[in-house]
Amino acid sequence: MSEFVIFDMEWNMGYQPRVFQYQGIDQTLRGEIIQIGAVKLKDGKTVDRFSLTMKPRIFPKLHYRVAKVTGLTQADLDRGVPIKEGLQRFIDWCGPQAALGEWGLDDVPVLKQNLVLCGLDEAWPRRWYDLQRVFTSQRPRQEGEGMTLEAVVERLGIPKNDAFHDALSDAEYTAAVCGFLDLEKGLAEYPGEEQQLKELLCPPDRDRRDFACWPGYLDGEAWSTSETLRGAACPQCGQPLALDAEDIWLRKGNNCLYSMGHCAQHGPAMIWLRRMRLDGLHFTFARATEPADDAMQAKWAKEKKAAQERARRRKEKEAAEAAALAMERVRNAGR
Ligand SMILES: [Zn+2]
Repeated sequence: MSEFVIFDMEWNMGYQPRVFQYQGIDQTLRGEIIQIGAVKLKDGKTVDRFSLTMKPRIFPKLHYRVAKVTGLTQADLDRGVPIKEGLQRFIDWCGPQAALGEWGLDDVPVLKQNLVLCGLDEAWPRRWYDLQRVFTSQRPRQEGEGMTLEAVVERLGIPKNDAFHDALSDAEYTAAVCGFLDLEKGLAEYPGEEQQLKELLCPPDRDRRDFACWPGYLDGEAWSTSETLRGAACPQCGQPLALDAEDIWLRKGNNCLYSMGHCAQHGPAMIWLRRMRLDGLHFTFARATEPADDAMQAKWAKEKKAAQERARRRKEKEAAEAAALAMERVRNAGR
């Protein structure tokens, strides 16, 4: 295996949320990076280390909660390298082709947002891996087992000599955990975004068909408007599915939308949409269809009715509030 970088970052938060524009679309900043730690592995052995504390510009004041978790002080940050210079040093140290690994999937989106804000190339890194996922695929989680880095380190009996939530020590702990894995195999088998969406959308116990995937959307709500995303075809004959006149789509969790379409020849079919945003900047949407049996049709009818009822009550409440406000104004004007 070529060189592989395991990294971890700490970031500062604001006391107020911060919104910035990326290619014309509002993005909420997840955090401003204040510390990066990394180890470089070659053939499974650590060949180099990287550690840097940076001086934030957008959130210059260290949030008390971040101070508590990381043990960093305001003075540490004030002495830090300016963030743009720090990020550039990290990129140079990793190299343009580097593959990165982290415990979980939180760090890369924050990294890419910060690259954008510093005017650096947010397309880097091109490849990154959630090592927690690799770990779980090779050592399936048992009931009651925690999956935080600290819990796993403890479970594996790795000596806990350094504090957690220091970027370099977390990267070192992650590398130590990887010592228990077949990392090469884990990275080779690692599913891409499309594969991950397919696994979520088309579980083996369901008859989901015609899986399709669209990467690169900036607008996370594109599935509410885009004909491409919504325009599903009958899973049996490929003719366009007609939607209800009410065009009702229901949400399942934060990242799934579904509706019932109808084929004149083959009857109803469920349409499933799912979205994923791995880089913190772009959404990938995916769609599958599923012939709807009686149970699915009954369930949909019930859910649809409940959603219509909720919408009706919300409208009534809004109307009542508007009426009360208007009355209040009239009363005040009369005084
Ligand atoms: Zn059909």
